[in-house]
Amino acid sequence: MRGREKILTGVGASPGITIGRALPVAPRQVQVAYRYLREKADQEKEVERFRRALDQTRAELEAAKQGLDRELSEYSYIIEAHLMILGDKLISQRTMDLIRSQGINAEWALAQAVSEAQAAFQKIDDDYIRSRFADVEHVTDQVLGHLSGQANDLGSIREKVVVVAHDLSPADTSCMDLEWVLGFVTDMGGPTSHTAIMAQAKAIPAVVGLERVTREVQSGDFMIVDGSAGVVVINPEEETLHAYREKQEAYELYAREILAQAHLPAITTDGYQVEVRANIELAEEVSQVLTYGAEGIGLYRTEFFYIGRKHTPNEEELYQNFRTVAQRLENQPVTIRTLDIGGDKFASSLDMAPQINPALGLRAIRFCLKERDLFKDQLRAVLRASAHGRVRVMFPLVSGVGELLQAREVLDEVQEELSREKVEFDPKLEVGIMIEVPSAVVVADILARHCDFFSIGTNDLIQYSLAIDRVNEHVTHLYQPLHPAILRMIRQVVEAGHQGGIPVAMCGEMGADRRVVPLLLGLGLDELSMNALAIPGVKQIIRRTDRLTWGKLARQALTYPTAARVAAFVNQHLQEQFPDLFPEDPGLS
Ligand code: PEP
Ligand code: MG
Repeated sequence: MRGREKILTGVGASPGITIGRALPVAPRQVQVAYRYLREKADQEKEVERFRRALDQTRAELEAAKQGLDRELSEYSYIIEAHLMILGDKLISQRTMDLIRSQGINAEWALAQAVSEAQAAFQKIDDDYIRSRFADVEHVTDQVLGHLSGQANDLGSIREKVVVVAHDLSPADTSCMDLEWVLGFVTDMGGPTSHTAIMAQAKAIPAVVGLERVTREVQSGDFMIVDGSAGVVVINPEEETLHAYREKQEAYELYAREILAQAHLPAITTDGYQVEVRANIELAEEVSQVLTYGAEGIGLYRTEFFYIGRKHTPNEEELYQNFRTVAQRLENQPVTIRTLDIGGDKFASSLDMAPQINPALGLRAIRFCLKERDLFKDQLRAVLRASAHGRVRVMFPLVSGVGELLQAREVLDEVQEELSREKVEFDPKLEVGIMIEVPSAVVVADILARHCDFFSIGTNDLIQYSLAIDRVNEHVTHLYQPLHPAILRMIRQVVEAGHQGGIPVAMCGEMGADRRVVPLLLGLGLDELSMNALAIPGVKQIIRRTDRLTWGKLARQALTYPTAARVAAFVNQHLQEQFPDLFPEDPGLS
């Protein structure tokens, strides 16, 4: 810190640099006061007042859902989840019971119901689910706002500002006119928080998880938000400002340049074409995928049909959805992954027994092989959609050939059924598997004989190989994509795939890091699939990479003993070969 300048570091949630005045917003901070209501009639009036606040909140959420524009429409499931919380007995019925049984005012009763819910959430072993308690808080804050009669003034922003908040709910952001928002900074949140998702969809720089930014910033303070590096500078010195203005200009130029070339094929300097595809979770993401130049969908995660809703989807619903995606992608492949529920992904619509080690439990393909009817519904939907585009199917978490053969048997059975029913499908539907369990790496040569493609899921492969829980913040420092064991496994899978005559893709986060991409090409990967935003940058670096040179470098990297050593080696070669792309140390570690 120099002078009044303060630098805070958080999580870069949406890339880009923005400079402007701060507007701290405190969405409805309501003081909850206690009132005792002795009379039955007063208690009933209080229940009515609470019901009205629930109705107002519901109406506000419905309006927010309707008001989502095209880029954000895919995120309506977040609002759906809030509507479900609002209707949950644990919150609404419990509050009314407390008003009546304890004779307390609605605000006090609601706060008590929430703290009971919090205690229940804290007992849950799964970090992801525990983190969803933030949704309960967002919704109840909204109800408290209505109880107190406080208006929400987020909709009145009419000048270009950096929005500073403790946390923002989808209802908060949906009432803002985002045209006026230069950037978002919040105390709370991680890379998958609502603020991050929404900021990315609207290409607004954002830094979240800053912990104390609301305490450090005052209204009108000048600030720099570097969403790429996850850094916020409050009241910067002239010199800092100058440096960031240059960085901002360079970033904007870079972003424009890579976007303009996003639709060019990704061919290396030595003439090798790499397929760059997108990972999606919802059909509505397809427009963004097309804008960013994806050559098809390399991973369609289908868990969202089962998360945040009360009923499992039926075959027809899945089919309609898959067909729409396949038709919009025209002749580009759409790789639909069968349900990968369990582990870090939990489904509200499925009755799953709690497990001590969910990551090692009844998850993904294991779950589907047990729940045959559910699995068959998915496969029927995938097959029917295959009559309308280039659909491929992919099985997650395969640990050995037995599981693959069983899954294929179900697929054959479904194909026979459809043929009997004279329903159209692609009889040559390609069948792929994700390689994300170490045992699958070891037997990849056997697996390659029974499927049409591999896709390496590094998110899980790293978790299972290095014994690092992918959602546990206490071990994130050990989550090392460049660990020699991981690099050797990638190499082994590529060799096994190629010897078996099938292509090898990567759809884990590792493939979205452009600093690692040349090394991955050197290791021999044929296809990369990633979040749409990362595609233009990855395609650009592929076009600048000499695959043969990086093949030699990869062989050398494979001899190093530690991730740190590999990282230093790759950093050095990136800077030497792409000085314009990496003017500073690329920062792999
Ligand atoms: C992976 O494990 O790398 C992967 C892409 O699958 P998910 O993140 O959905 O588990
Ligand atoms: Mg996975």
